[in-house]
Amino acid sequence: MAHIYTDADADLAAIQDRVVAVIGYGSQGHAHALNLRDSGVDVRVGLAEGSRSRERAEAEGLRVVTPAEAAAEADVIMVLVPDQAARHVYAEAIEPNLVPGKALFFAHGLNIRFGYITPPEGVDVCMVAPKGPGHLVRREYSQGRGVPVLVAVETDASGEAWDLALAYARAIGGLRAGGIRTTFAEETETDLFGEQAVLCGGASRLVQAGFETLVEAGYQPEVAYFECLHELKLIVDLMYEGGIAKQRWSVSDTAEYGDYVSGPRVIDDSVKARMKDVLGDITDGSFAKRFFDDQDAGAPEFRRMREEQEQHPIEATGRELRKMMAWVSDGDDDYTEGTA
Ligand code: NAD
Ligand code: MG
Ligand code: MG
Ligand code: MG
Ligand code: MG
Repeated sequence: MAHIYTDADADLAAIQDRVVAVIGYGSQGHAHALNLRDSGVDVRVGLAEGSRSRERAEAEGLRVVTPAEAAAEADVIMVLVPDQAARHVYAEAIEPNLVPGKALFFAHGLNIRFGYITPPEGVDVCMVAPKGPGHLVRREYSQGRGVPVLVAVETDASGEAWDLALAYARAIGGLRAGGIRTTFAEETETDLFGEQAVLCGGASRLVQAGFETLVEAGYQPEVAYFECLHELKLIVDLMYEGGIAKQRWSVSDTAEYGDYVSGPRVIDDSVKARMKDVLGDITDGSFAKRFFDDQDAGAPEFRRMREEQEQHPIEATGRELRKMMAWVSDGDDDYTEGTA
């Protein structure tokens, strides 16, 4: 059983006594900065001069300075820029201001786990990673609740890094829900695996393959869309509420029987063997290297794959069908906001 921290395990004073910089003001950045401020923490936001996020942060009454100024002023520096930008922001703005006694925080372990960022000696290196998007982290905090967090310490230079990490986790509301103790390696490897094999890669490809199978067999794409994509939300909501067991309880016996008979035929041991290959590419660092190399080259592979995927026929079918469903929101904040 994982070790779970609650508010009782953390003393807010440990973070209220420090000066905190939140670098970036996207999904996570806005939630951390606002929750910290409302927990009585002295926080400033670090954003580049031309950043479009500046206006939004200032409208909330936050002090906005450049990432370098924020890192210079603060003794706790939380890095909440996109993972592929983090080591560049680190080299330019943070590292020159990172002296012993300060603490470097992350919400994802990728750059530390694979050695793209190597903090100097004498610096605490901690992680507080909410298990939800920033908009939920902010909303739950505002309602007196919180989103669970993963908490890890990579380097405890001060001997007080855990106190500091737990205080930060409490200040953003995470320990109201619970903080799970982990390591940078575990958080990074499981996060990448989950999104690649199951949540993003696995689910997207499963939906496409099901849609393709029906359309190639001569069924109408509109009907295939409903069966293979639209109804997935109902199934996932049931799993979210009560596990796979509640989902199976809720669907018809016909559907449940079909699940047992055909699920293992589609997702068989060969799929698991390839999941292990994917995990291997994650743990040996080759996925991170491929992603960062491509990003540094201007993301040609990433852009090509994104364009190709947007051309999949299921997207055109879905665009038309969603117009029939007034309650299905398209173009919500996260989808349209952009991050510049
Ligand atoms: P985001 O893309 O929503 O926001 C990035 C922010 O960084 C924006 O404010 C942008 O203006 C700024 N930025 C971009 N490039 C920059 C640069 N070169 N210099 C300075 N600022 C720059 O990012 P996010 O989704 O909040 O992710 C931040 C971190 O949180 C990542 O490590 C991510 O893995 C982690 N995380 C995200 C989620 C999530 O649900 N989004 C959940 C848990 C952890
Ligand atoms: Mg994750
Ligand atoms: Mg992730
Ligand atoms: Mg059905
Ligand atoms: Mg049933």
